Amino acid sequence: MAGIYIHIPFCASKCVYCGFYSVVSTSQRDAVLTALKQEMELRRDYLGGAPIHTIYFGGGTPTLLAPDEVAALLADLHRHFPVAPDAEITMEGNPEQLTPDYCQTLRALGVNRLSIGVQSFHDPVLQFMGRRHTAREAIEAVHNAAAAGFHNISIDLIYGVSERDDRRWADELQRLATLPIQHFSAYALTPEENSLLYKQIQHGRHAPVDEEMATRQYQQLTDYAREHSFEHYEVSNFARPGFHSRHNSAYWDGTPYLGLGPTAHSFDGKSRQWNAGNIAQYLHDIAEGQDCAERETLAPADQYNETLLLRLRTRDGLDLQALASEFGEQRRKELLAYFEKEVPQEHYTLTKNRLCLTEAGLWFADGIAGNAFVES
Ligand code: SF4
Repeated sequence: MAGIYIHIPFCASKCVYCGFYSVVSTSQRDAVLTALKQEMELRRDYLGGAPIHTIYFGGGTPTLLAPDEVAALLADLHRHFPVAPDAEITMEGNPEQLTPDYCQTLRALGVNRLSIGVQSFHDPVLQFMGRRHTAREAIEAVHNAAAAGFHNISIDLIYGVSERDDRRWADELQRLATLPIQHFSAYALTPEENSLLYKQIQHGRHAPVDEEMATRQYQQLTDYAREHSFEHYEVSNFARPGFHSRHNSAYWDGTPYLGLGPTAHSFDGKSRQWNAGNIAQYLHDIAEGQDCAERETLAPADQYNETLLLRLRTRDGLDLQALASEFGEQRRKELLAYFEKEVPQEHYTLTKNRLCLTEAGLWFADGIAGNAFVES
């Protein structure tokens, strides 16, 4: 079992908080699509013929692709890889492109899950973020997707934004209940180092992120999810039963994946490799027949740390027996001793074989995992 990620590195404009690699100019669009096709051929054996259970078009803004471009990429994927008949095929998209026609075409092409970048239902917040759509267009996009036959729709939201107080955030959460969605992802505003917001904060043109507000709004979020029967299955992800993202869940389980396109990362179960972080170098590498820009083999300590980091962010948590068989009984004992001594009891639960963070503990997941990291 394996997954494929395809990075479409184009956006119509840059959002203020965004740290993902994308460019506004589409002058190299055809070149990138041709290179993606070549990369599929070049790396067709990377996953060793494992059946592909998930395909994910991310970016950037994949919904900037024309239907025939999506069709060509899907046809190439099917030609080079054994895509399972029931594969989850997700496309990220922005509301302004998700017209009724576009949604219907994507559905007819076999895309069966949409992840829509809504971010907020409040226009002043959207304007601050530099989004190109209004709240109303976002709601219409979700309804267009549902009307086109998408039964697996996710939306993204961002909280902890100083332009929106707790009361407004509570109102926005209530909007979710009225939408035909099965999943949502909510992220605390994080000014990535290469984002415009980061520079604004550095130059005093925007207030730093209010951590206390973010903590309160996370609490509102988890209360909302509980009251409305969304399972909080990972720090930032919430789903109706049966609608967890299969693609992201596979990352957290350590399933191998192939990443295609500029900046895309791949993992074959033991080593990680990644493509060049800009389009020009990516095109050059592919033209030279190079299958990545850099590669690293994970040492056992790195694999252990990564397992802690990824698994403790999920509500399923860590299987302690599996951890002991993979990394040794001593690691298991040390981890339990650390939890007993350093982690507040209300932040985790321990049953015979499973160590899980509670809802309150998930907010501290990265710190809890980071403090348990080993060096060798
Ligand atoms: S948030 Fe999405 S649409 Fe905005 S710049 Fe980043 S990748 Fe592009």
